[in-house]
Amino acid sequence: MKLSVIGTGYVGLVSGTCLADKGHDVICVDVDREKVECVNRGESPIFERGLQALLEKNAGKRLRATTDLEAAVRDTELTLIAVGTPFDGVAIDLRFIEQVSRQIGTALVTKSGYHVVVIKSTVVPGTTETVVRPLLEAASGRKAGPDFGLGMNPEFLTEGEAVGDFMAPDRIVIGGIDERSLDAQARLYEGFAGVPIVRCNNATAEMIKYASNALLATLISFSNELANLGAAVGGIDTVDVSRGLETSRYLSSVLPNGERLIAPIHAFLLAGCGFGGSCLPKDVAALVAEGRRRGLKMGLLDAVLRVNATQPGEVVRILENHFPDLSGVRISILGLSFRPDTDDMRESPAIPIVRALQERGARVRGYDPVSAHEARKVFGAEFPLCENLAEALHDCDAAVLLTRWREFEAIPALLAGMSPQPLFVDGRRMLDKTSIERYDGIGL
Ligand code: NAD
Repeated sequence: MKLSVIGTGYVGLVSGTCLADKGHDVICVDVDREKVECVNRGESPIFERGLQALLEKNAGKRLRATTDLEAAVRDTELTLIAVGTPFDGVAIDLRFIEQVSRQIGTALVTKSGYHVVVIKSTVVPGTTETVVRPLLEAASGRKAGPDFGLGMNPEFLTEGEAVGDFMAPDRIVIGGIDERSLDAQARLYEGFAGVPIVRCNNATAEMIKYASNALLATLISFSNELANLGAAVGGIDTVDVSRGLETSRYLSSVLPNGERLIAPIHAFLLAGCGFGGSCLPKDVAALVAEGRRRGLKMGLLDAVLRVNATQPGEVVRILENHFPDLSGVRISILGLSFRPDTDDMRESPAIPIVRALQERGARVRGYDPVSAHEARKVFGAEFPLCENLAEALHDCDAAVLLTRWREFEAIPALLAGMSPQPLFVDGRRMLDKTSIERYDGIGL
């Protein structure tokens, strides 16, 4: 199939590259000329495991990039819209979606064949029908349904595991205004044999994406609130509580050979310093705003966000328990990206934590295996960054783990050789508390 993907960010680039690898002819479109040139050179503009190799394999063959959106639409049968949908502080910001919808509509004026437009970006339920459809129809002078197809295909990939998630999805959700729009998307995913495909209308597809993210965010805030309560009561370790939960029949199953399988959703029941990233915070906020706009209180999801907003403060509180005056205290932040295996620092809990510590006069420095360049953008060029983990652990009063990078498993061994040892604060409860002499953490 010939397809165009508008927006060459995390979702657009990964989707475009993976679909090219599955045999489709893909044109990636972006307004950012640098990104376009990068892709055409076969260089990934973002760090994502496996992406560089896949891009090298397909660039210049089944994958190319351009800034010419209208030509890309005219030269293809189906267009995926994967531009950003940020939260502007009040509601979802549909500026990019609106702009692209008008441009696609204009391109359709001079296109003779049938074309399908599919929203891949995360948009609040109702957007495809009430925002995208009228813009496409007005700009093209054509009618959705008889003249062109309109669908909604939310993306569930997780940054850090984006290529693996896209290539082996747990489900594919496709919404559409009619069978023809749905069938076109089904053809796009023909190469994904055995993956369950959920066919529905566009608003339902939009809601499935929000329901998925809101569920995970709710579990995280639930666990964090209970972990904080356990720490306040005393004598309760959230890790033990979590072990007690995971063996519940709702979260695990026993195989015929007696082996117990823990449901992967249990990972969202581990307490930490809060959720971040480009999706969960903004998607839950957008859903709450949309509910309020429609006269609903949205009390539960509003509380999920409030718990999350205060959770980075728990790390600061733990540090203040040990150093009542943080002024001059040398603190190494281990992990700056919002999750491991990505350089993305958008909404990372590391940001409010570093700022709060700096405001208290602490001497903060950071270490992250891949997001040093992002950290410089966020904290400024003078922000001290360590070259490696060993350097970060040396000459500090406290080391604070904020991202579950696998290489941090080496921390107990590295600390064991040091005397005196710094305080270690586990903001993700990643390491065994008995493996480190001076250990503290969330929910302990
Ligand atoms: P991103 O910011 O990384 O990429 C968006 C891209 O769109 C940018 O490269 C930007 O230059 C480009 N763009 C903006 N306006 C354009 C225009 N008029 N024409 C062409 N290109 C334009 O965003 P992202 O993280 O890829 O997210 C895209 C969408 O996918 C969002 O709705 C997001 O919520 C959703 N989503 C993201 C993830 C994720 O993990 N990042 C996962 C699932 C869904």
